[in-house]
Amino acid sequence: MNIYDLLITIDNNHPIRNKIKNFLECNTPPDISPEKDLDQFVTDGSNWQKKLFDQKVIGNFVPTEYGGCNISFYDEAVALETLALEGSPQIPGIFGLTMLCPILLRNGSNNQKAIIPKLVSGEIIACQLFSEPSAGSDLSSLQTKLTKTIDGYILNGQKIWTSFAKYAQLGFGIARLDDAQPRKKSEGICYFLIDMKNQPDKAVMVKPIRQISGEAEFCEVFFDNAFVSNENIIGDPNQGWKIAIETLLIERALLTFSRHTQTINLVKKIANIITEDFRKEFEHLISEFNLLRLVAYQNLEKLKQAPQNPDVWPGAESSADKLLWSENFKKFARFYRRLALKKDAATLRDAEKVYFYSLGRTIAAGTSEIQKLTIAQRLLGLPRSY
Ligand SMILES: Cc1cc2nc3c(=O)[nH]c(=O)nc-3n(C[C@H](O)[C@H](O)[C@H](O)COP(=O)(O)OP(=O)(O)OC[C@H]3O[C@@H](n4cnc5c(N)ncnc54)[C@H](O)[C@@H]3O)c2cc1C
Repeated sequence: MNIYDLLITIDNNHPIRNKIKNFLECNTPPDISPEKDLDQFVTDGSNWQKKLFDQKVIGNFVPTEYGGCNISFYDEAVALETLALEGSPQIPGIFGLTMLCPILLRNGSNNQKAIIPKLVSGEIIACQLFSEPSAGSDLSSLQTKLTKTIDGYILNGQKIWTSFAKYAQLGFGIARLDDAQPRKKSEGICYFLIDMKNQPDKAVMVKPIRQISGEAEFCEVFFDNAFVSNENIIGDPNQGWKIAIETLLIERALLTFSRHTQTINLVKKIANIITEDFRKEFEHLISEFNLLRLVAYQNLEKLKQAPQNPDVWPGAESSADKLLWSENFKKFARFYRRLALKKDAATLRDAEKVYFYSLGRTIAAGTSEIQKLTIAQRLLGLPRSY
């Protein structure tokens, strides 16, 4: 089975595609995935990520002074896609690469930008400290507090569902400024970076949450007088909400596109074991995936000018990318599980893991209901229903 016979790709003569094929001919990717073994995924995946960055395969949208080539998000997306098509696994530092680096390039100080090479190479794993027990979809209800002191800020509160927190050296998140007097919930929210490891004893407690898949990809994170230096505040301390929204938009656009890797890997697995009675359904799912890829490509077109042009950033259309991809991935995973019921025990075990993992994808980065609301209100201009 040739994956290129099944999936539509555009810009097939893009120079990065050939570069990656040549690179992979000389470098064998590790056989890793977060569903299979999380620790191994992070350890082996970080080494692999470093190699990809050193060879200028990924991270090229960052300016040359940070080790990149100043190319666009669009080109970066083509690189990530080609890696997946050619059999390279996901990388563990994907949040740093597709979320935090773009945010730092757009909003960070020179000191903050200096960490970009370590984020892109996977040397620093970053985690996203947004969700709280009572602030998920309604994120601006967050309660975690930053209190100003002479030399920085003290952070208190709890975050939850923080992916890769147990591996992360750095967190990027939002909290409410203690002394703010907001007129709206979204005011007085501060965007910060936090050193997750070098903190007073018990100031940052990370408790992994075991998921139904067996893995503990995400965690609860408790802050008890943790320290955030002045240098680690991104942008105006009162204007963090705007940067949080920018983060969600780039997450739903660039990170989601990189998540196509997961479907591509799944399509390959299924194609290897497909039987005639399942073929039609498989083809139907592939058509759906191809259609959503066309939508994603169309949205990526706009990102040919970013991050270089500061006026260009993903918009509400990224909700369509996120919604369509995660719902389709879940369908593929459910299909794989049904197919695997007729196969050996190892295949079934793998399919169960992928299936359970897929359920979380329609929740992470904003649930499907929230994406639909955004599409209805922001893209279609429909009135609010409440
Ligand atoms: C695998 C995974 C990884 C994650 N990683 C991270 C991470 O790294 N960092 C981070 O900060 N967060 C992370 N999250 C958290 C994720 O962003 C939240 O779970 C998500 O935003 C939903 O919030 P909630 O869990 O509080 O659910 P709630 O907001 O309480 O929603 C519960 C249900 O109500 C529905 N609902 C809520 N409001 C509305 C509405 N207005 N209209 C219609 N329906 C509504 C939701 O769709 C959902 O079905 C992760 C989640 C998952 C599953």
